[in-house]
Amino acid sequence: GPALKRAAGLVREVPDFPEPGVLFRDIGPVLADPDAFGAVVHALGRRGDFDVVVGVEARGFLLGAAVAHACGTGVVGLRKPGKLPAVADRVDYDLEYGTATLELPADALESGQRVLVVDDVLATGGTLGAARQLADKAGCEAVGAAVVLELTALEGRAAVPDWDVQALFTV
Ligand code: 5GP
Repeated sequence: GPALKRAAGLVREVPDFPEPGVLFRDIGPVLADPDAFGAVVHALGRRGDFDVVVGVEARGFLLGAAVAHACGTGVVGLRKPGKLPAVADRVDYDLEYGTATLELPADALESGQRVLVVDDVLATGGTLGAARQLADKAGCEAVGAAVVLELTALEGRAAVPDWDVQALFTV
């Protein structure tokens, strides 16, 4: 609809962030606009075949919580290291430069739950791959992921083969 089109136009391009030569896509203005935010949240949750939303720190928290609330599910946040009082599991993964870690909180996911992973941007796919591993290891069924924006040139879908990744916008 028109609100989703508006949302696409609100994604801001920030040259040379976080380092020279990188064109960063900032979805902050999408979240700040009531109509665009509502349309994006609705679209991210529309598949409906999940029991719980997993959001990735940090912008995946903002989106994931809204999607979960709209769909009547709970939400679980995957966190960067050192933030959680009790950790169920952790996965290390590769970034374009260096490595990163995501942690799953203790007593958050239940075996057998159908999980939808939500994040703002799909780049190389390392982050979604790590989220999927954590869901798998918890005995959950990772039904797929929903992101606002996919950077197609980075071929991030290859990191989560046979996974249903929904991107609202591509660039
Ligand atoms: P990936 O693991 O797919 O390479 O990177 C995705 C993660 O890095 C996501 O959690 C996302 O928030 C962040 N990220 C990578 N590139 C961008 C970008 O251009 N814009 C935004 N907003 N996040 C990015």
